[in-house]
Amino acid sequence: AELRKQATAIPMRENVDTKGLPPALNLKKIRKQFGDHEVLKQIDMQIKIGEVVSIIGPSGSGKTTLIRTINLLESLNGGEVVLFGEDFIKGGQKPNSKTVRQGLQRIGMVFQSFNLFPHKTALENIMLAPRYHGKPQDKEVNRNQALYLLDRVGLLAHADKYPHQLSGGQQQRVAIARTLALSPDIILFDEPTSALDPEMVGEVLKVIQDLAKEGMTLVIVTHEMDFALSVSDRVVMMEHGVVQADASPAEITNANSETPDLLRAKQFMGIES
Ligand code: ADP
Repeated sequence: AELRKQATAIPMRENVDTKGLPPALNLKKIRKQFGDHEVLKQIDMQIKIGEVVSIIGPSGSGKTTLIRTINLLESLNGGEVVLFGEDFIKGGQKPNSKTVRQGLQRIGMVFQSFNLFPHKTALENIMLAPRYHGKPQDKEVNRNQALYLLDRVGLLAHADKYPHQLSGGQQQRVAIARTLALSPDIILFDEPTSALDPEMVGEVLKVIQDLAKEGMTLVIVTHEMDFALSVSDRVVMMEHGVVQADASPAEITNANSETPDLLRAKQFMGIES
């Protein structure tokens, strides 16, 4: 209770009217190859502000590479990424460091393997994030916001624990709180539950679902098909480096032989006809 009094809310996105605004992300013909292996073949994809998009597909289809290119963890060989209507990355060009820095501040990423600092507590891991990303804060504000974020992911009572004292699900919730500490406008999730024991998947999906309800723009690479259907505005299925299907959950669920691309996605998702 004492900690909760100190926790200070971070103002979350207001319900702004996003009609007429450019998409949060606009991927135009993006290409990526590793050696001779073309992993992304001219991918076009738009993600609107506030939209929740799940990316599914067989292993090796390019899902992880796709979201890593958006975050500059992989370079692009071709095409471009436009972020909130502004030029961000162009394939084959050296990124402009100022544009990149500003753009990256708007994009949060949550990894499969949490990537917490092992020798820092849950609270410290979150507190470190803003400074680490060039957004230093007043000390007290920093701590109180970190407490607030821990509370949001249901872990206030674990503030002083180290990662090894937490379950995988708890560590991933800390990692999500850490990403939120950067006040991103978009969060990319790279298979956030695939390193977890089954009984911990639900608690992490719940946190992601709460973010979706609040209107955060989310791109989620996932193998959790029920989750993808329930949380997403759109499901994008990738296969062999191309977009096989890009449709709403309802459109995929209702697919039939007249919509073969969607039917493929429906079968992949294990949805019964
Ligand atoms: P997915 O996330 O759909 O499982 P990935 O994006 O991880 O697929 O991988 C797509 C393809 O790119 C795979 O064939 C993988 O082996 C290859 N790949 C991914 N990263 C690298 C890398 N750093 N070097 C070489 N090949 C890679």
